[in-house]
Amino acid sequence: MTVASSASAPRASAAPRAAAVARPRDPDIVATIGATPLVALDRLFPPARFQVYGKCERFNPGGSVKDRAARSMIEHALSTGELIPGVSTVVESSSGNLGIALAQLCNFHRLGLICVVDPRTTAQNAAIMRAYGAKVEVVDRDPETGEYLPARIARVRELLRTVPDAYWPDQYGNEHNARAHHDTMREIHRALPRAPDYLFLAAGTTGTLRGCAEYIAAHELPTRVVAVDAVGSVIFGPPEPWERGHRRTIPGHGAAVVPPLLRPHLADRVMKVTDLDCVRGCRTLLAKESILAGGSSGAVTAALLDAASWIEPGATCVAILPDGGDRYLDTIYSDSWVESRFG
Ligand code: PMP
Repeated sequence: MTVASSASAPRASAAPRAAAVARPRDPDIVATIGATPLVALDRLFPPARFQVYGKCERFNPGGSVKDRAARSMIEHALSTGELIPGVSTVVESSSGNLGIALAQLCNFHRLGLICVVDPRTTAQNAAIMRAYGAKVEVVDRDPETGEYLPARIARVRELLRTVPDAYWPDQYGNEHNARAHHDTMREIHRALPRAPDYLFLAAGTTGTLRGCAEYIAAHELPTRVVAVDAVGSVIFGPPEPWERGHRRTIPGHGAAVVPPLLRPHLADRVMKVTDLDCVRGCRTLLAKESILAGGSSGAVTAALLDAASWIEPGATCVAILPDGGDRYLDTIYSDSWVESRFG
């Protein structure tokens, strides 16, 4: 509505208006991504030997570390016009957490989302994505390799050809996935009196590894990076003969392809863990620290427990705990699942 001004109407007083001072924008849900807590894990790792802190990524609004990568990739594509609110559809392959993070962001920015998952994605994760308005497509193992990832990527490529205005963030190759983790490491660096001696993190797309390691290098920190991978994964090279036949069922860390994002020299050390190590790590973290953590947090914890033999006394370590355990109640925290899987 426009209101015509009347020549006879008195002019408003020239007094300055308080509204001229801009009020800071209230944070929306997307602004709450990051700045996650760093907690001492003193019960599990008594500080008399060395100190360990856990970076609790479940505190992100989508419940995992992948909120950071999703925000970074989506906001970049929005800024370049590759994504247009109300028009574009994001198509991505995810084992769960990135799918949830994208579903939250796509709903926020009025973008469509088709998430291609595999049967390891729990019904709950798929339901969360759908609640945000995403379409979820489940694919089976690739007949040639017996792995899920190639089958998921093949379906993504098919969707890109057929869905109008489709956009693939491609988390395994997108630099903005890695860049998101400059912030992760900056937060760790700023939260501690001095840079940690070791950073333990789980590797999947290797976005966390690359982003944190780039920050460490750029700031010339003495922090050594320990990448935790799954037995049977190919990220850091072909599996050893004894690893073959090990079937990975816990999603998050490990990959069936070498991620294009990977810069192997950025990891000072690689440790490989089994699914059973993850279960033990998770359950120990829960018993000692009362932290209900996800599978890759268990992997990182198991690696730290193993590393206790070579970590120097007095060292400070940070473990990134990528998600919470509520997404693993039917597996890692189910006695019957653990018994049926491992005996
Ligand atoms: N842990 C969990 C639970 C994850 O969802 C992921 C992402 N796949 C990772 C670890 C690995 O993180 P990144 O992709 O940054 O290597």
